[in-house]
Order: sequence, then C-alpha cells, then structure tokens
Amino acid sequence: MITSIRSLATERARRREARIRQLEQERDSRESAIFQRIPRLAEIKALQSEVGLDLARLMLRVPTRFNKSFEELQAWSLELSAERRALLERHRINPDELDVRWDCPICKNTGWLQPEVAGPDTVHPAKKCQCLIQEEIDDLYRAAGIAGHMREQTFGRFDLTVYPSEDRDYMAKVVEYGKGYASRVAKGTQEESLLLTGDVGRGKTFLSTAIGNVAVEAHRTVVYFTFSEFLDLLRLHKFEDEEKYREGLQRLLDADLIILDDLGAEKVTEFVAQELFNIINHRMNRSMPMIVSTNLTPQELADAYGPRIASRLLNGFEVLLLRGDDIRWILRRRRAHQ
Ligand SMILES: [Zn+2]
Repeated sequence: MITSIRSLATERARRREARIRQLEQERDSRESAIFQRIPRLAEIKALQSEVGLDLARLMLRVPTRFNKSFEELQAWSLELSAERRALLERHRINPDELDVRWDCPICKNTGWLQPEVAGPDTVHPAKKCQCLIQEEIDDLYRAAGIAGHMREQTFGRFDLTVYPSEDRDYMAKVVEYGKGYASRVAKGTQEESLLLTGDVGRGKTFLSTAIGNVAVEAHRTVVYFTFSEFLDLLRLHKFEDEEKYREGLQRLLDADLIILDDLGAEKVTEFVAQELFNIINHRMNRSMPMIVSTNLTPQELADAYGPRIASRLLNGFEVLLLRGDDIRWILRRRRAHQ
C-alpha cells in the first residue's frame, strides 16, 4: 500500500529509542534479580560509582566523599572489580548478564558511530553504522511496496534458461538494457520513462522489480504499485480521506522512480484516466523516470485509457517489447513532448 515516506526517519529514531529502553529495562531486571540473590554486588556497584565520582571531584578540586588520594581511589576501584569478578564466578553468573544485550554491539543500537579524533586538527564526524544503513534500505523497500519475495527478483537471478532457446539472445539484450536503465536510475541520470509491453509471463514484473531493487539499494526512493492499488488510492479521494490521498499522490509525484505494474484492460472512468495522465505528465515534464508494464497492445491501451495516455506511453516513453511469438527488439528513444 502507498504510505508516507516523509516520516520514515522519525519513525526509525523512535523505534530505536524504544528498543534501547526495552533492552536497558531487560538488563535492569536481570540485574535486580541477581542483586537480590547477592546483595553485596549491589553495594559494589554503588561504591564503584561513588569512587568514580570522587576521582572526578579530585580532578575538579572540589570536596570529596571518601577523603582518599587519587592512587588510593584507583586501588580501591581495582579491588572492587576483583571482588565483583570473584563473586560472579563463585555464583556461576556470566558477567554478560549484567550488561545490555545490544542487537548491534558496534553502535549500541544508536545507529551511529562516535566521532573519532584522529589528530589535533582532525575529527572524523559521527558515521552511520552498517545496521542503520541496512535499516534505511529495509524501510525504503517497505515504503516502496516491494514485498519480501520481490526483493529476490534481482538481475543476478534472472534465469535466461526459462526462455525458449530461440528467445534467449533477445532476452539477454533485454536484461542488459534493464541493467543499464537501473544503474542510471541509481545514479539519478535516467530521465526517460519506460514502457514494458508483452504477453503475460514474459518477465515484465521481474524486470521492473529488478530495476526497482537496484534503485532502492542505491538509496533511491521507489514506489511500486499495481493498477488496482492505484485505484485504491483514488478511492480514498472519493471517500474523502483527502489527507491520505494527497500524501499517496505526492509520493507518486516525488519518488525517484515509480513502477506501475500491470496496466489492465478494464475501461477506466474519466477521473481515473485524468489522474493517471496527470501523473505521467508530471513525471515526464520533470524528467523523472516511471516504469509502466502492460500486456495490452497499442490499440487496447487507447481503448481502455484514451488516446492521450496511449500516445504519451507509446511516444513519450522508451518502449521495450517482450513479445511471445514474434520477438522483436524495439527500443525507441524519444524525448518528452515529441
Ligand atoms: Zn549498529
């Protein structure tokens, strides 16, 4: 379904904070169970924290609690650590029990690696942890409406052997073209939209999803939607959930790549045709790529969606024909508005 992408980062931060709180609470409850069994451990913890404070107080030259020298405090701290270790060992408690069990020990679930001081004048700024980078990609997939099994539809898995041997050279060209298209979308240089036509089962969805997956992995915003999901969106407008409708529509206008899968043969209303035309026009005017797949012939496209849409798709888009019987490689490059 078409959901808002704007709030993804906020949601992510909220999710991480909640998870951090949860993991800390889990640690706290493990800890209080252990402290109940071995009260001395709780005393050690409190003392260690006081000793740490006194060390800081000494450095700041403010009154201390224990009236000990720096060396005495350090020695005491070591003694307390040794006593703690011995107690844990005697009770066969893994010291990890008292630590937070981070999902990502590298960034402690924050998603960020601390700034690194590399020299007197060089501080490397905080960097994203790999776990955050992956989470962003996962969010983009979810926001794109690319479901789990579709993430596996990659160019690497495009299996040419499923095609009849006489079609394989042709399909190899299609895949090569798709790869080029995908890498241009990933780089943000692809301006023309793409119409994938051809019979059912020729790999149109696979090809468009593979392109979408490359784009998402490159951190591009992608929206994958079927024609029936588009109709669902328009229905929101009819039933006056105006805000949700506008939000969904805005995503179709703004995403780096949108993929409209399976433009069907049912004749559409004037309103639907107008909305579809507006989206196509908006994307073409701004040189923002859109992929449309359909098994309709040019005539059927015109019959179902009207001559204006058919003309935009057939003349304004690059057209890739995946025909079953009569396989031809037809690729037309036309600029918008020609
Ligand atoms: Zn991490």
